[in-house]
Amino acid sequence: MIDRWGELSIWEVMIGMSGSVKHKVGMVLATVITFGMTAPAFAADESSGRDKLKAHSQEFRKRIEKVTEGIYTAVGYSASNVTLIQADGGSIIVDTSANPVDAKAIVDAFGDRMTHPVRAIIYTHNHPDHTGGATVFAGGDKPEIYSHKLLVTAKPDTGRGRRDGGDVFGTALPDDQFINVGTQLEYGRITPHTREGFLPPTQTFNGDDESLTIAGVPITLILTPGEADENISVWLPDRKVLIVGDVFLKTFPNIAPLRGLPIRPVEKWIISLDKLIAVNAEFIVPGHMGTISGADTAREALMAYRDGIKFVYDKTMEGIRNGKTPDELVQEIRLPAELAQHPYLQEFYGSVAWAVRGIYLQNAGWFDGNPTHIFPLTEEERATKLVAMAGGTAKMLGNAQASLSASEFQWAAEQADYVLALEPQNTAATTIKIRALRELGERQMNATARNYYLTVAQSLEKSLQDKQPK
Ligand SMILES: [Zn+2]
Repeated sequence: MIDRWGELSIWEVMIGMSGSVKHKVGMVLATVITFGMTAPAFAADESSGRDKLKAHSQEFRKRIEKVTEGIYTAVGYSASNVTLIQADGGSIIVDTSANPVDAKAIVDAFGDRMTHPVRAIIYTHNHPDHTGGATVFAGGDKPEIYSHKLLVTAKPDTGRGRRDGGDVFGTALPDDQFINVGTQLEYGRITPHTREGFLPPTQTFNGDDESLTIAGVPITLILTPGEADENISVWLPDRKVLIVGDVFLKTFPNIAPLRGLPIRPVEKWIISLDKLIAVNAEFIVPGHMGTISGADTAREALMAYRDGIKFVYDKTMEGIRNGKTPDELVQEIRLPAELAQHPYLQEFYGSVAWAVRGIYLQNAGWFDGNPTHIFPLTEEERATKLVAMAGGTAKMLGNAQASLSASEFQWAAEQADYVLALEPQNTAATTIKIRALRELGERQMNATARNYYLTVAQSLEKSLQDKQPK
């Protein structure tokens, strides 16, 4: 249906065009049609981003990892990891999964490795996927609950109102479109983050670190902000184990999330990683995905992560000082090859481009320095003028359809948006936008971008179906 409509429109467009433009579009069309005979439309390099993201799902397979003697981490049973520390006369639990159902599955999986009483629970940070199952681990044991004091006042993420139904976690996507969310297999799709099993902290500390002994186990809690201001890392000096929460994950960090949150504190994040490098851990347990074993591997991974963030930060700051705009810096800043290929810096969750924009905004504000952008035209005013220049709505849409056929999906979406700015109910423009978003989503290895594109496409499709006469 879409293709048929598109072909008609393209020819209609050509009828109204000047000679040279008509010639150029004709060349593009000829190319598209020629290739269209032999190859399926829109299939070019669609698979690589999707395949990488699919392979990344392996990180979340369900298992209990023995970190070292007496320490076990449950990976893949819930959105986040839960770690069991065997202590004198009982157990210590670090993070508690997303909800009581997941927590129960983890208790079962730990089996008799987890002995009662549970003497303490430590929250690395407030996110609901780490704090939602505490009641299950606590049982009737009344353990002390430890966290940084900042956790008590931490505000839950609000995120942006879902314009067009967008959602970075893909919670509404059908199974055949959903892959993962970058740091975990699913966020709230199957097992919701209810906070139903949350227990408030009973022991908090206020400074940069706190050393204590819990049930015979020496522990240092180190404030390491990054994804969350109150994130603490749990250092077990006797066993050289470092449990870090979400300040270090096997993906480029989500410094400037798509979902409408404040930008994460980049300078503090770099300092946090310096602190973690300095303890010389032999084992690292992140808040999501598998653990790291071996002092050299641990150090190298932490350093690469720190260097990746620092490189983007330094380059963005240098660009700001040199009067570069965010758009220019997004095009210029690329991680050096050895960092770009590093397994801990793949852009499954965060993105270098968004980090550049976030760091720019954090340090130089919203204005890019071009006076034209001080009081720009409204979207509607710009669309009115551009659509008129293109020769009207039908011609703009014909061009947008040609852009789709030429695999210029971003440009197709932008042209559809100009028409939608004037005619929000325009079915043809909505159809083109849906198609463009699907193509963009399928090419993404970044889970949050993919989920957002595909969820908006689904939401727009539903709006079209709702308009159909029943
Ligand atoms: Zn997390």
